[in-house]
Amino acid sequence: MPIDNIVILTGAGISAESGIRTFRAADGLWEDHRVEDVATPEAFERDPVLVQRFYNERRAHLLNGIEPNDAHVALAEFETQHTNNGGRFTLVTQNIDDLHKRAGSSNLLPMHGELLKIRCSATHKLFPCREPIEVDRPCPCCQVPGQLRPHVVWFGEMPLYMDEIERDLSQCDLFVSIGTSGNVYPAAGFFQLASAVGARTVELNLEPSANANQFDEGYYGPATEIVPEFLSQL
Ligand code: NAD
Repeated sequence: MPIDNIVILTGAGISAESGIRTFRAADGLWEDHRVEDVATPEAFERDPVLVQRFYNERRAHLLNGIEPNDAHVALAEFETQHTNNGGRFTLVTQNIDDLHKRAGSSNLLPMHGELLKIRCSATHKLFPCREPIEVDRPCPCCQVPGQLRPHVVWFGEMPLYMDEIERDLSQCDLFVSIGTSGNVYPAAGFFQLASAVGARTVELNLEPSANANQFDEGYYGPATEIVPEFLSQL
């Protein structure tokens, strides 16, 4: 049976070989910080200087020589080919880096936000951001200092694009989870929504994730090798 509707979910593992550290890999810390200190609304309220500095550092790192790798590029090329042949393709990413975008992916849903954007806490207006943000910088829309925050979904906040993601999962024939540990919900439960509608479910990861035995298939190794190889066989 031909595969028409494909949903891909990516996590930090796909960007690891580009030089961006994953999150839980070694010690449960994100770049040497506890997530409670840098990735929750409470942390931002408690210590906005630390939180802005953390994302300023992530942004500076991303813009300092980090490039999409063969896995990002293979997904973008596959999307073009598949959609030219009349198929549907949705790329959902938990990553806040812009490497899928730079590789050329187009139907992309960054469900945990984007590092290269900031937003006004009051109006929710978004602004592009490639430079460090000082805590007291006045917001461009309301001129109030301290209103700007990273456009990143923190733990305890609602992920973005959930309606589109659930719609596409409910119609997919193939669901592929790439480079994610399966620890962060709701993304970690997407394979179950796909499985419930009869989709083939596949995991591509460095090692079996928390939910590995519930996928139909799993292939393990570095993303730059296994992603291009898997896509070439579809
Ligand atoms: P995670 O760090 O919890 O898990 C990463 C997974 O990738 C692990 O299962 C690991 O085995 C696998 N992996 C490591 N290197 C790999 C490689 N070379 N090839 C294939 N797989 C590899 O990541 P997560 O599940 O995405 O959850 C982390 C959360 O932290 C996300 O919500 C994300 O927003 C955030 N985060 C984002 C980035 C980024 O934007 N690049 C980086 C770190 C954390």
